[in-house]
Amino acid sequence: MTEDFSSLINPHHKEARLRLAEKLAQSGITDINVLNAIAFVPREYFVHPTFIFKSYDDIALPLNSKQTISRPSTVAFQSQLLGVSPGEKILEIGTGSGYQACILKVLGAKVFSVERVPELYNRLVKLFADLRLKINLKLGDGTLGWQQYAPYDGIIVTAAAPELPSALAAQLAVGGRLVIPIGDKQKQTMHLIERVSQDKYIDTPVGNFSFVPLIGEQGWDEDDK
Ligand code: SAH
Repeated sequence: MTEDFSSLINPHHKEARLRLAEKLAQSGITDINVLNAIAFVPREYFVHPTFIFKSYDDIALPLNSKQTISRPSTVAFQSQLLGVSPGEKILEIGTGSGYQACILKVLGAKVFSVERVPELYNRLVKLFADLRLKINLKLGDGTLGWQQYAPYDGIIVTAAAPELPSALAAQLAVGGRLVIPIGDKQKQTMHLIERVSQDKYIDTPVGNFSFVPLIGEQGWDEDDK
């Protein structure tokens, strides 16, 4: 069944989206499907109203509740690393603005996404309903994954983890890929973790990033500094 993305068709800022995609291509994003998704999805639907005029700058922007929408280059990098094929089941931890989830959806994934902040979650339920996008949302601690729909072909974590949460490793399908920034609260290394058999994972570090902390049972404590 082909999905209906007509609610995302938006002629406003089309040039800005194309320029952003071109800039990402020049900076090393080679996956044409990811570039097309960036050129297609209106990022202004996801940013906080105060910052709409900055929607197509390659910067992270504040959301409510001290959280951020990731930089487009980071969204593109993580999406490319994940390597989504249409129909794959993908789990995202940290829905935030919903922009990354929407990119995954446009790439053809069946998207499951967990957010821990109720205020953001409530906004997302409404936003995805308004956009008629079938993205499965859960309010809760994503360090524990989403057991009900496991295993996943891909898992993408969009907040900084102190270490790989064992629940996420367990919920990854054999042959699946997990993309996660691991480090301290200031700086993290992105890891691509591939599950090659029931008990063998290959871990490849792929560059440095800076995310907001992953807070939860297998992440940081809420009050840690
Ligand atoms: N993918 C998002 C990035 C949001 S920033 C986007 O495209 O906008 C990271 C998000 O992770 C924040 O919204 C934060 O509240 C959330 N988060 C942090 N710890 C979490 C946890 N344990 N479970 C689920 N979400 C978490």
